[in-house]
Amino acid sequence: ARAIQQRRRPRGMPVPEDFAEAELVLPALEPGDALVENLWLSVDPYMRECMDGDWELDRPLEGRSIGLVVETQSPELPIGSLVFHRDGWRTHTVLTARDARVLPRYDGIAPQTFLGLLGGTGLTAYVALTRIAHLRPGETLYISAAAGGVGSAAGQLARLLGAGRIVGSAGSADKVRILTEELGFDAAFDHRAGPSVSAQLAEAAPDGIDVCLENVGGEHLEAAVEAMRESGRIAWCGAIAQYNMTSAPAAPRNLFDLVAKSIRLEGFLVANHRDAQTEWEEFLVPHLRSGRVTDRLSVTDGFERTVDAFLGMLRGENTGKSVVQLTPH
Ligand code: NDP
Repeated sequence: ARAIQQRRRPRGMPVPEDFAEAELVLPALEPGDALVENLWLSVDPYMRECMDGDWELDRPLEGRSIGLVVETQSPELPIGSLVFHRDGWRTHTVLTARDARVLPRYDGIAPQTFLGLLGGTGLTAYVALTRIAHLRPGETLYISAAAGGVGSAAGQLARLLGAGRIVGSAGSADKVRILTEELGFDAAFDHRAGPSVSAQLAEAAPDGIDVCLENVGGEHLEAAVEAMRESGRIAWCGAIAQYNMTSAPAAPRNLFDLVAKSIRLEGFLVANHRDAQTEWEEFLVPHLRSGRVTDRLSVTDGFERTVDAFLGMLRGENTGKSVVQLTPH
């Protein structure tokens, strides 16, 4: 199998030289094992954080993948099963049933959707809005990194939940257009252009916001606190603006406003809400089938371009969830 390993710790923004491809010799199958050929890999912001210390160097990386069972000694993983696993950026792996989820085959829904809306990305949006922020019909919602995987899922979900005004920020004029013209946002702005995030948010949500799904941190979180109405809720999901920073972020400076406005700020990890997966699938599948919701993916072709896809996602080149498609051999 071919695998991508981390050679050294990135300093700030990672570069291709921080990674290397390695050839792995896979173990012979033992009873209970299955050989999985990967079809799709996920490149995720959390991986950047793991690269600073959690992950050992020169070892295959962890990561969300979807593959096909091609040889088996496991009755629970028959040949041809489509499986989700976390064995990382590699072409093949040997798994037992404990480490793999056999995916249901939903008519008309592509397997890679299990890395996007039907996977942890969509589940994060669902948990944020329903369990953490308790979005209510008619409320105004602000989403940062709104054109990304979690953001584009959350915007579409918020519409289904009856949100009033939905506002998003993203990093280019084209993404802003996609948010308002294709993803149902009422207003959007380019955080890389124009005045401060806070000034742009005030213009896009002149009456303030009730709920925020915060993916960026720093200046974006500060702007959300400023725009928040009394008794607002912030589901703090990520802080991508600081994953590549080598020093502490300068904002937010206004956290004491949480007191005056009785705002609730709650961080969460989707890993602690896996029990919501079935509920999410049951809710989402009919909407996916009817086309009311679309799984936007940014697809990079070829295993050898996995690192490019990862770096591109950190630079904001993706719209929707960033995934890599492997060519079957
Ligand atoms: P995205 O698809 O949103 O990709 C990341 C996006 O972040 C880029 O496309 C870019 O979009 C934006 N970005 C990058 N750098 C900056 C910056 N300096 N300032 C502002 N925006 C930036 O990734 P995901 O949907 O997978 O993840 C989104 C967030 O959700 C991340 O913070 C991630 O860590 C978090 N997350 C948290 C989970 C949890 O359990 N709490 C689970 C999954 C994700 P643009 O062009 O718009 O700037």
